[in-house]
Amino acid sequence: MNRLEATLRRIDGKGFGAYKDLGGVYRGDDIELRVDHIQGDPFAAPSRFALRRPLSGVGVPPALVEGDNAIAVADFLTRQVALALPHVCRGRRGSGKSGTVRIDAPKQEILERTSAVIADGMVEIRLEVGLPAEGRRILGRHAFEMLARELPAVADRALSAKHLPLAALEAHLAAALDQRAARAQLAGAGLVAFVAEGATLPRLSGVDPRPLSGAAVPFGPVPDSLRVTLRLPHAGDVSGLGIPAGVTVIVGGGFHGKSTLLDAISLGIYDHIPGDGREQVVSIGETMFVRAEDGRRVTGVDISPFISDLPLGRATTSFTTDDASGSTSEAAAIQEAVELGAKLLLIDEDTSASNFLVRDHRMQLLVEKEQEPITPFIDRVTELYEVAGVSTIMVLGGASDYLDVAHTVVHMNNYRPLDVTRRAKEICRLHPNQRRPEGAAPYILPPARVPAPESFDPSHGRRPERVKTRATRSIRFGKTEIELDGLGQLVDDSQARAIGDLLLVLSRDQTHAQRSLSELVAALEARVQAEGLAAVLAPGMGNRAAVRSLDLGATINRMRTLDIPSKC
Ligand code: ADP
Ligand code: MG
Repeated sequence: MNRLEATLRRIDGKGFGAYKDLGGVYRGDDIELRVDHIQGDPFAAPSRFALRRPLSGVGVPPALVEGDNAIAVADFLTRQVALALPHVCRGRRGSGKSGTVRIDAPKQEILERTSAVIADGMVEIRLEVGLPAEGRRILGRHAFEMLARELPAVADRALSAKHLPLAALEAHLAAALDQRAARAQLAGAGLVAFVAEGATLPRLSGVDPRPLSGAAVPFGPVPDSLRVTLRLPHAGDVSGLGIPAGVTVIVGGGFHGKSTLLDAISLGIYDHIPGDGREQVVSIGETMFVRAEDGRRVTGVDISPFISDLPLGRATTSFTTDDASGSTSEAAAIQEAVELGAKLLLIDEDTSASNFLVRDHRMQLLVEKEQEPITPFIDRVTELYEVAGVSTIMVLGGASDYLDVAHTVVHMNNYRPLDVTRRAKEICRLHPNQRRPEGAAPYILPPARVPAPESFDPSHGRRPERVKTRATRSIRFGKTEIELDGLGQLVDDSQARAIGDLLLVLSRDQTHAQRSLSELVAALEARVQAEGLAAVLAPGMGNRAAVRSLDLGATINRMRTLDIPSKC
């Protein structure tokens, strides 16, 4: 730390570039400050520093960070740092980002992220620091105050045995472990999702994922016929709605909470923080929300089970378009998801192409099957389950035809779930549907597609690699823009940045020639699992979070540069 002071004294008042002299590692009593990157000027992306302290100094018992548990513990520590920052850091002073200290703070989910890394008995917190300057002139005294006073104060407040709220940490970890245990029990119980009684499903707003407080109706009571009790390691016995594998339809009047339930299930792939309201809502990890996304790119996908005989004789066994329609995009999304290993599809009528969902009896009379390329989803949903083991949960307020094919029908009434399966079957018996099933040929699984290595070209002009993300909306990769709006299960900007990094890893790794898309993303996922997120992604970055191979694969499927050479 003396060295730090000496350096800052020396470069005080010099041009901003002299900050580069700071590089290296500084040690104090049981704390370490590592410089990972120094920004080019006060307006550029901030500098990156890592604060390191032994677990013992942080007060985390070693038993708490065994195996995967380290992820939830690190998540907790990131939040502690985020809480401490405004108390101990003075904030902006000088030009541009001067004086700011930031951490990539998590939201409702507990995700592995690079803002806190626990390894080899050390906790490493990665911070973004705006080094202070007036214009381009270094403010050495302020820099010393930030680096030698504020950052250690952050560590003292958020990362010290004296201040660590151990009970809250244990509750955080227990919540995560319970959710993992619940998820692990689903398959054995014949379920694809579980929604605990009393859960708070609605969110504060369409742009604020925190729980709706006050006005929220707790989930339940759950009808006995669908009631399941899971035994969790910490919470004990928890009862709730068990959604069985197969075809489930959620019906109900408009504004009665159908989409909110489906949304909660779609995020049940993640562990949630205590108090989120959905910390006992879980779904199997292979859950994929699929929707219509007209205008998207589709590359070499076999959509023939759903769409064949397009006008002008276009083939649909290897369908490519730069501008998909609502129905072709939804068909492609399903086939891509199944190819990548999805076992539960979530479909909401709000975001579906209606002609893809069903063609009703009278439309069948008016437009003959021969003139309609689409085999609607209703005629494949049962086969998807029976042939491919892929379950579906659908939200439908209008199309009663699905009552014929549903195994389970849940009625959301004033935000309360009712089991109306028997009544629905009774109605089907009394009012037989005259609709004829379509889709003559049996459903076959989509074939594995092998991307050409050139698909992943990160170059732009003279720059060999250019990747830039815009929130969870899009990634600019080389010369191409990848739109992510269709991927509703991405919840964190840091996940999009991680995807950008993983695409770069793919582009550098030339050994991926001749490997299928699902092999590629599975191999990357395995690598992240073995080496840790921070080791695989761009080194030293503190704003990356874990993504599923399903979402990475779905991103690749949306790349306009994706090339799937046809087999000879
Ligand atoms: P639907 O899909 O049935 O039309 P939504 O799920 O979109 O209905 O919900 C309609 C509105 O009700 C939304 O503003 C949502 O936040 C709110 N909401 C959903 N569930 C609950 C609940 N349990 N308690 C209070 N409000 C809720
Ligand atoms: Mg809705």
